[in-house]
Amino acid sequence: MTHPHDRSISNRLLPVRRAFWAASIYLVAGFAWIAFSDRVVEAWFEDPASLSRVQTWKGFFFILVTGLVLFTALLRQLHKDRALLALQHGQSQALRNRERQLTVLMDNLPGMAYRRLRDDQWSLLFVSDGCVELTGYEPSELIDSRRLGYSDLVDAATRERVTREIAEALAADQPFSVEYALTRKDRREIWVWERGRGVVDDQGEIAVEGVVLDISDRKKLESELEELATRDSLTGLLNRRELSRLLDEELERAKRYQRPMAILWIDFDHFKDVNDTYGHAAGDSVLKSVSKLFLDSVRSVDLVGRFGGEEFVIVLPEMDVSEARETAERLRARVSAVPQPLGNGNSVHLTISVGVAVFPNHGLNSGQLRAAADRAMYKAKARGRNCVSMAHLFPHVHNDA
Ligand code: GH3
Ligand code: MG
Ligand code: MG
Repeated sequence: MTHPHDRSISNRLLPVRRAFWAASIYLVAGFAWIAFSDRVVEAWFEDPASLSRVQTWKGFFFILVTGLVLFTALLRQLHKDRALLALQHGQSQALRNRERQLTVLMDNLPGMAYRRLRDDQWSLLFVSDGCVELTGYEPSELIDSRRLGYSDLVDAATRERVTREIAEALAADQPFSVEYALTRKDRREIWVWERGRGVVDDQGEIAVEGVVLDISDRKKLESELEELATRDSLTGLLNRRELSRLLDEELERAKRYQRPMAILWIDFDHFKDVNDTYGHAAGDSVLKSVSKLFLDSVRSVDLVGRFGGEEFVIVLPEMDVSEARETAERLRARVSAVPQPLGNGNSVHLTISVGVAVFPNHGLNSGQLRAAADRAMYKAKARGRNCVSMAHLFPHVHNDA
């Protein structure tokens, strides 16, 4: 088997050998011509004058023939050189075109393209110009830098997770895509999506090539959607589902520590009239401003939720019957005292009816408590609205009139 190294040496020797052969053939042919032709001429021409003339013509003939051979050989070689040069020119032109296309592509890529080593620092070998916009760093600050590696932009736990995910994909000879947060030069945190694959470099080692895109907007939208799932979109309060979940949690805690806990069931009085008189948008504006008033009037541990329509529920951990009644009364008084804006510069006076149920006095589970508070609220309506009503003591919860 031929070693590549041996082949390159024999390639280098080839021109010398060929030149040597050409020179040898020329010398042998020259000597043979002189020796052979001299004999023939001497045999044919005997007088010295003719002999000398023929010798001269023979010399001219030799020069002519060797000149023709030289001309033909050179012409062939020069043609070959020219074809080779044209090929080289075409290839380098194509290469330059490809390079330019690649550069244009990479510079216009959203995010950055990279090539990096598969080491702990994720040492970059190449990054496209998009690096500046994405990370705030110039490529030169991250490439071959002893001070800062690309992995330094990512916190330790994330780095470990991402490295593991990439290693798994590379081991399976698969492309990978990972998402992680990185800290830009201006200390702002952004979310990125990276997709890449392993490539074998000239030394036979695996490097990683791919692209990194900024997905912060998508992440923000996702978290907003998540928020929407737990929050009521109009008022920003907890939605029915989330408040029910939290109520169950609070109730568990109250049971475990044998502490009281209260819920307030609130319904706006004659709210339909507000809509009918001022319009639905004005009604929405009132709902928002009363929601804010509720939030501002309770402690930070209390949970305020919109159960639907103009029905609100407030969970008051650690509150017994008298504290809950006071809180409900305070809320009722504040709502009736402050006119609520309609969103068109005007405002409207309105009132609420509140039902109060307390664990463990009025119910032992969330179903019982909610039913008791709801019933108490209707009692308040029946009593003429704009008032607070306490639930019946458990277990008489089913006997209320
Ligand atoms: P009462 O309190 O005495 O029961 O009278 P009410 O007019 O408030 O009656 P009810 O609670 O049954 O009606 C609720 C009304 O609230 C009906 C609907 O027009 C209005 N409403 C429900 N949800 C919304 C909402 O999201 N926006 C607006 N603007 N109005 C709503
Ligand atoms: Mg109502
Ligand atoms: Mg209602």
